[in-house]
Amino acid sequence: MSDPSEERLVLPGDLLGTAEEFVPGRGTYEYNGQVYAALLGHPKVDTQNRTVSVQALHEVPHLSEGDTVYARIEEIKSAMLVTNVLSSARTGRTVPGNPEGTVHISKAKDSYVEELGLEFAIGDILKAVVLQGYPTVKLSTQGSEFGVVLGRCTDCHGILSHVSGSQMVCNRCGRREQRKVSKEYGGHKGGPSSDEGAPGESHAEEGHHRGHDRDRDHDRDHDRDHDRRGGDRGRHGRRDRSSHEPGPDDPLDAPSSGENTPAAPPPDPSSG
Ligand SMILES: [Zn+2]
Repeated sequence: MSDPSEERLVLPGDLLGTAEEFVPGRGTYEYNGQVYAALLGHPKVDTQNRTVSVQALHEVPHLSEGDTVYARIEEIKSAMLVTNVLSSARTGRTVPGNPEGTVHISKAKDSYVEELGLEFAIGDILKAVVLQGYPTVKLSTQGSEFGVVLGRCTDCHGILSHVSGSQMVCNRCGRREQRKVSKEYGGHKGGPSSDEGAPGESHAEEGHHRGHDRDRDHDRDHDRDHDRRGGDRGRHGRRDRSSHEPGPDDPLDAPSSGENTPAAPPPDPSSG
């Protein structure tokens, strides 16, 4: 009755036998003279050693040299990155248990890395290649394929965009950072890396065309020709869309009857 060696399934905490009957093996623990399962799995009894163990139902898949994985940086030490291995980059399957994987500073980049903290940040997602899968997982991010594939601003946690080289810019606050990036940065589904030739072109003029509309009438004619291409000319980078878009979002586009500026509110006598 107490023979735990059948192909039955045990849950963590299930009683396997007494410590007098069995030596607690892998996947078990002993408590108050009883041996319990520590894992979900199949109990196994080694009758020669009188050892009971539990073979996990979901074995952690073996990572072997040359496998490529995605891993998240959990800690940055002086000479290594400590990561959790999330998934296989080849199959996309998650790696159960998210085993720890380390990247030694000498394996982070082809060239010399002075300080890991200048090129990586906690929370970054890496694409890495497995150098060793057992007993500890060792990873490398050397080579253009490997490195950070998703990084966040260390200030505001916004997503970083790749500018060029190691230069990154925060989508939210504009902060500049550096990363050892993978060439798959931001698009590790395999999409083509889009506008490589025009770094930093588009984010400056987003919030900038408000409030310059007052004297728009003069520039409108010549702006219309240049504006679409000239992302680098911030000065003239006002909009010229007045002719194509009636712009319900823009009250200043209304026909200039001259009275669409609201009168100043009357002074508040109750201030005091
Ligand atoms: Zn930011």
